Amino acid sequence: MGIFHFGRIVGGGDEEVLKYFQEHGLVRCGAHCQPCGRAMSQIKKKGSTTGYMLRCPSCRCKESMSKDSFFDGSHLTLAKTLALMYFWAVETSVVQTTSHVGVSSATVVQWYQYFCDICSWKLQCMPASLGRPGKDRPDRRICDGEGQVPPRTSAT
Ligand SMILES: [Zn+2]
Repeated sequence: MGIFHFGRIVGGGDEEVLKYFQEHGLVRCGAHCQPCGRAMSQIKKKGSTTGYMLRCPSCRCKESMSKDSFFDGSHLTLAKTLALMYFWAVETSVVQTTSHVGVSSATVVQWYQYFCDICSWKLQCMPASLGRPGKDRPDRRICDGEGQVPPRTSAT
């Protein structure tokens, strides 16, 4: 994501930001009401993390859009969270990000740590191939629980 793409999403308001998170599977797109089984409607909700909430058209019970997501209980809007993601990804300093996003440095440090932790977790879960299968060497996988990353040699 470049600055123009980022600008278009944030410039589109809560709806565009939420859509971005939903398209990337970070926030759910909807839910069915537990008591009555009907599909819940997405309605605006000022002051919530996502700017929206889910409401059952029958029994009117309500649920947070961000329920069961990483952002459940966050005090930041998704737009600010996306801004933190963007500035983290482009390696902006904590001081600059604090100024750009308008949150405390402690908040920036905390979210930067979350993003690092998520990337580390993802890398540990994802099998990675070393070398070209059938070319340089057999397809070796790391993080599959079967062994270690092969030691570096003068050839690698
Ligand atoms: Zn209901």
